[in-house]
Amino acid sequence: MELADIIRSVPDFPKKGIVFKDITTLLADEKAFCAVLHQWADRLRAREVTRVLAIESRGFIFGGALAYELKVPLALARKAGKLPWSTIREEYALEYGTDSLELHEDAITPGDRVAVVDDLLATGGTALATVKLAERLNGIVVDVGFLIELAFLHGREKLDAYPVESFITYSSEA
Ligand code: AMP
Repeated sequence: MELADIIRSVPDFPKKGIVFKDITTLLADEKAFCAVLHQWADRLRAREVTRVLAIESRGFIFGGALAYELKVPLALARKAGKLPWSTIREEYALEYGTDSLELHEDAITPGDRVAVVDDLLATGGTALATVKLAERLNGIVVDVGFLIELAFLHGREKLDAYPVESFITYSSEA
C-alpha cells in the first residue's frame, strides 16, 4: 500500500474549501508510522543533525520520536503565549491576518545543526518562521522535513534556501 493511501483527506474541514490531511490514520498504522520514522531518522543522521526543532502541534509527534531515535535534544516552536520562559518571536502571514511562533531563547545552542520538523507543508509560512527563529539563535538549518507536502501551494519556493524533504506529495487539491 502507498503511504498516500493511508492519509485520510477530509473535505471542508476546518472550513469550506479546505481539504484537511488527517494523519491520525497513519499514526494508527504502526508499520507505516515506524517505516516513515526510520527513513526520516536515517536522513537526519546522515546530515549530522544535533537538534530537532518541532513545530506545534502535529510536528511534536514526529519531532519527539526523531529526537529519541537520534538521541539528540528536542526544541519546540510554539504558538505565541504558550512557552513559559523568555522567548523570541516571528510573525508570519496567514490568508487573513498574521500569526506568530515563539521559541525559548536558550532552545538552540549556537552552531547546532537543526532539523525542522512538521507534519505538513502548505504555503510554507509556518516553516519559514521556524527556520528564522532557529537562525536568530545561530542554529544551522540542515533539514526542513514534512510527512506531507501540498506542492500546489508552492511552500517549497518560500524555503528554497534550505533542504526541504517530504514523504508524500500532493500535486493537486483533490
Ligand atoms: P503553512 O504555513 O501554510 O505551510 O501551513 C502549515 C501548517 O498548517 C502545518 O502545521 C499544518 O499542520 C497545517 N495545515 C495547513 N494546511 C493543512 C491541510 N490541508 N491539512 C492539514 N493541516 C494543514
